[in-house]
Amino acid sequence: MNETPLAPGLYIVATPIGNLGDLSVRAGATLRGVERILAEDKRVSAKLLKHVGATAPMTAYHDHSDEGVRDRILAELGSKAIALICDAGTPLISDPGYKLVRAARAAGVSIHTIPGPCAAVAALTLAGLPTDRFLFLGFLPAKARARSEAIAEVAGVRASLVLYESGPRLGEALAALAEGLGHRGAAVAREISKLHEECVTGTLADLATRYADAPPRGEIVIVVGPPPERIAASDDDLDTALIAALASQSPSRAAAEVAAALSIPRKRAYARALELVEGDALA
Ligand code: SAM
Repeated sequence: MNETPLAPGLYIVATPIGNLGDLSVRAGATLRGVERILAEDKRVSAKLLKHVGATAPMTAYHDHSDEGVRDRILAELGSKAIALICDAGTPLISDPGYKLVRAARAAGVSIHTIPGPCAAVAALTLAGLPTDRFLFLGFLPAKARARSEAIAEVAGVRASLVLYESGPRLGEALAALAEGLGHRGAAVAREISKLHEECVTGTLADLATRYADAPPRGEIVIVVGPPPERIAASDDDLDTALIAALASQSPSRAAAEVAAALSIPRKRAYARALELVEGDALA
């Protein structure tokens, strides 16, 4: 069932995120046509490769694989067609591959992508939130403080936000998003393309309440709508909010809180917070 061998080069192949029927005809043909398949977890990918009738040997690849592994792959890429897949979805999207593609590009290797399923994009199509501008954040940090800082950093971004999350951490993540981003529409897309696919929508606060004590099973994408359109915060609005926040918080935390509340860049709030502290405006 193997196809005509492909020209040497790196083939980045997207695979299904749940439903095997989503594997494209071209993805299947590519996996049958290559001479080696780089996989994140060989046991996970064995099932898919059996399904498509691909028999090329598999090699484990991670971006944290050492330079020696990458060098051996690069040496082979000069004369062989090699595919890169991940456990599910599009390689390089919260998955390994970036360092290999960078090295392959630097080495002048021919690189091809076989596009297909990606949970982030699939969730955007379900959520009913604006898709004209979106920012993909991958997974938020697990520790509370780092997570709040990561959220504060994007609070002023005028775009929908897309995040990957696990069931057990969903409630906490939604609560942190509600606190850091305020009143925004959001969606929790779960088990996309699988039997129990669902997409629950509401405000961040509603969703945080819903999932606080009921962690759902399965794989999850959170989509958060952009901040509400508002008249840009004036310098006076900013000063009033900062002076109140600085009464009980450090400039950095006050700036993060005010930036989220006024939907302005954190940098602007922080620079002004420092000016206020240094200029003794708080005395
Ligand atoms: N590269 C993959 C892609 O293209 O979407 C993402 C890999 S990332 C390691 C895995 C995360 O993607 C999961 O924890 C979950 O947040 C999300 N995900 C993957 N499959 C999903 C699905 N069927 N439904 C919802 N989310 C999914």
